[in-house]
Amino acid sequence: MPAIRGPQSKSKARRHAAVRGLDLVHADLHSKKHLEQHLSSKAFEELPGGGLWYCVECATHYESEPNFVKHQKGKPHKRRVRQLKEEPYTQKEAEAATGLTTDNGRKKADEEMAIDVDVVEEDEVK
Ligand SMILES: [Zn+2]
Repeated sequence: MPAIRGPQSKSKARRHAAVRGLDLVHADLHSKKHLEQHLSSKAFEELPGGGLWYCVECATHYESEPNFVKHQKGKPHKRRVRQLKEEPYTQKEAEAATGLTTDNGRKKADEEMAIDVDVVEEDEVK
C-alpha cells in the first residue's frame, strides 16, 4: 500500500522530483550542442521510450508518442514554454538586485541615480 503521508507519499515524491533548471533548458533551446551533451549523459536503454520522446522545454522523457503529444497540449507544458520566453536571470543581475555590484559599474549607477533625483525635483516645482 502506498504511503499517504511522509516522504514516500506520491505527492511528496512528485514535489521533490529533480527538475532541470530554466537557465539550463534555455541554453538547451538555443544551443544544439548543449542539448546533445545533456541527452548523451544518459544511456538511451535506461530512458523511457528509449529516449525517443523528449520534451526539451520540460526536460522530460515520455514512453510513447500519444503520451508525448498529450503532454504538449497540457497546461504544465504551456506554462513552462511561457516561462522560457523570458531571458533567465544572470548572476550579475541577481547581485545587482541585492546591491552587490562590481566597482566599475557602481560609479555609473550612482551618477544615473543622481540625475534621476534632479528630474523628480524639477517636476515637483512645476
Ligand atoms: Zn513539455
